[in-house]
Amino acid sequence: MTAPALPGAPFLAWRGHELTLEGHSLSALAREFGTPLYVYSRAAMRHALAAYTDALQGRAHLLCYAMKANSSLAVLQTFAQAGCGFDIVSVGELERVLAAGGSAAKVVFSGVGKRPDEMRRALQEGVRCFNVESVHELHTLSAVATGLGLRAPVSLRINPDVDAKTHPYISTGLKANKFGIAHDEALAAYRTAARLPGLEVVGIDCHIGSQITEVGPYLDTVDRLLDLVEALQAEGITLHHIDVGGGLGITYTDETPPDAGLLVRELLARVDARGHGHRELLFEPGRSLVGNAGVLLTEVLVLKAGGEKHFCIVDAAMNDLVRPAMYEATMGIVPCALRDGASRRYDVVGPVCESGDWLGRDRALAVEPGDHLAVLSAGAYAMAMASNYNSRPRAAEVMLDGPRAHLIRERETVSELFANEKLIG
Ligand SMILES: *Cc1c(COP(=O)(O)O)cnc(C)c1O
Repeated sequence: MTAPALPGAPFLAWRGHELTLEGHSLSALAREFGTPLYVYSRAAMRHALAAYTDALQGRAHLLCYAMKANSSLAVLQTFAQAGCGFDIVSVGELERVLAAGGSAAKVVFSGVGKRPDEMRRALQEGVRCFNVESVHELHTLSAVATGLGLRAPVSLRINPDVDAKTHPYISTGLKANKFGIAHDEALAAYRTAARLPGLEVVGIDCHIGSQITEVGPYLDTVDRLLDLVEALQAEGITLHHIDVGGGLGITYTDETPPDAGLLVRELLARVDARGHGHRELLFEPGRSLVGNAGVLLTEVLVLKAGGEKHFCIVDAAMNDLVRPAMYEATMGIVPCALRDGASRRYDVVGPVCESGDWLGRDRALAVEPGDHLAVLSAGAYAMAMASNYNSRPRAAEVMLDGPRAHLIRERETVSELFANEKLIG
């Protein structure tokens, strides 16, 4: 059988019949640590980060890894050690940053529904900035900050009404979305922010969607933001930073997103052309830093002929990886060791009692029970979205780092699943 193409190369590569990540045999890792198992390459994460940082050399900038994509501590540690900040959407994420050795001073706090207690904790830790998503939030945040005798640094998340041309569930910059402050209400919102006693206006922010595969929507967005920056400057409100959000796509199958370096260079050119090159640029990439750095390993349990289809039933399920069920996402699925012999078309499904429990449809595979499969590009929005549905403990995670394979999360145990539950006494 010919070896299928691999997103995530060169870190993911065929070595003869064996699939390897950062030089490690994935079959061997599946046997050593059991399945389902997430495996990540630290070198691949650093490589993805370097595409941004190389293009930003010599410019005032901060890369805030959008940690909701993958918030495992060792992943955060990898980015913290590389000098990154973090984009967080809850106080739980702030606590993870701190536990991983990250610095609150490099944290931007996004999200449409921040609770006052979350604001308080973030203020006490000294986060870099709150990305505020409504006028109501401005008033609440000002009151919370005043109560602590502090001023909250704020950036307003603007909804630029730009079509990111991505899946409706992950498009966030259209008027119809719940996110951000409408572009035509932004000036009034900034004036309010500038006069509230507990706030200090520091920047402007946006985030138009996820899995974006074109540069155009970013350039349109940055133009919309710069229009506001200029209008505010004319009123004496100076914005020190411009946060262009995250959202850059990756290759799952046949997508061809721009390289992060190209995106950064085009954005810088636009910002410079309009005379704003002195302002600090913030980025909030999530998926593009980790997506192609990880795989989910699973074991084939049963091959079953249905009435019209053949099913390859594996030990990973929608609770481990919900992207196919939730977004109808297509992710590559390949054997960890290629077999000779004829392939057959299978729906690759898990053991969960839902017809929506599928990982891939109509895939040509030559497999036998006991073989291991790798679901590719599973570093983002995968483990971070895992649940315990069907009382299934969450998978273990391994981080490869050169010759070493570190177990960074132990497999959950069944007793942990109901440790917080009580019978009625
Ligand atoms: C999710 C999110 C990001 C990251 O999006 P990716 O598509 O993973 O790059 C950035 N900023 C905000 C506010 C987000 O909600």
